[in-house]
Amino acid sequence: MTTVLAVANQKGGVAKTTTVASLAAALAALDQRVLVVDLDPQACLTFSLGHNPDKIERSVHDVLIGDAEAKEVLLDTAEGITLLPATIDLAGAEALLLMRPGREYALKRALATIRDDFDIVIVDCPPSLGVLTLNGLTAAESVLVPLQCETLAHRGVGQLLRTVEEVKQITNPDLDLLGALPTLYDARTTHSRDVLADVSDRYNLPVLSPAIPRTVRFAEASASGATVLAGRKNKGAQAYRELAENLLNYWTDGRKLETLSG
Ligand code: ADP
Ligand code: MG
Repeated sequence: MTTVLAVANQKGGVAKTTTVASLAAALAALDQRVLVVDLDPQACLTFSLGHNPDKIERSVHDVLIGDAEAKEVLLDTAEGITLLPATIDLAGAEALLLMRPGREYALKRALATIRDDFDIVIVDCPPSLGVLTLNGLTAAESVLVPLQCETLAHRGVGQLLRTVEEVKQITNPDLDLLGALPTLYDARTTHSRDVLADVSDRYNLPVLSPAIPRTVRFAEASASGATVLAGRKNKGAQAYRELAENLLNYWTDGRKLETLSG
């Protein structure tokens, strides 16, 4: 059975794209057939997986507006992940989709034609709660919310959770909110721990285990067109491997998700 996971948070810089790429690589290493979808017009996921968005002819943009079939647009990447790439054209898709009926369903319809070829599809949502993110949430079975542990500025979380609730009421009743994923975590500071406790209390949101530690390896990796899993052993890669196992146990064996909030 294929499962589709959306990684969403309207705040930029919280490690959505890093999480999509690293988790995908970790799942591929566990013999899963993984497709990642770049829904951000900035195309950072596409770039970080070794493809130059400026040199790509057709992208998820053409698929969403009905000018191409998803299978015609897929690209291979070095670590065995398949990519539905983005280009800057996607910035215009929002406006084009807005004029169409069923605009929230464009991605779900497109994925229906290829999802059987994959075990897991991971959607990298853009930093907004616009039509593209609504497409990601509508196409998904579950959603994961990366949260940066460094700032107390989590005011956006309430808004995101309201959007998830609205999606459940209107376009996707079965959407499973898995919880928050702590990113850029610094275990040495009590501040990081306080932020986590605050999020889980205030929003009644499970906080998934493990927290992803801050390490310079991520910047090095994305600049090289590979994920952090491809490089030397490091604690960032290890954390995403554990997260992959946690999610896979939940999806395939029905085990309880491991959380930090208990
Ligand atoms: P988003 O997609 O939410 O905007 P990104 O995944 O692009 O966020 O991450 C923002 C920046 O943070 C990038 O430069 C990325 O390399 C860096 N980053 C992400 N995760 C980590 C981490 N665990 N440790 C250090 N840097 C990280
Ligand atoms: Mg991103």
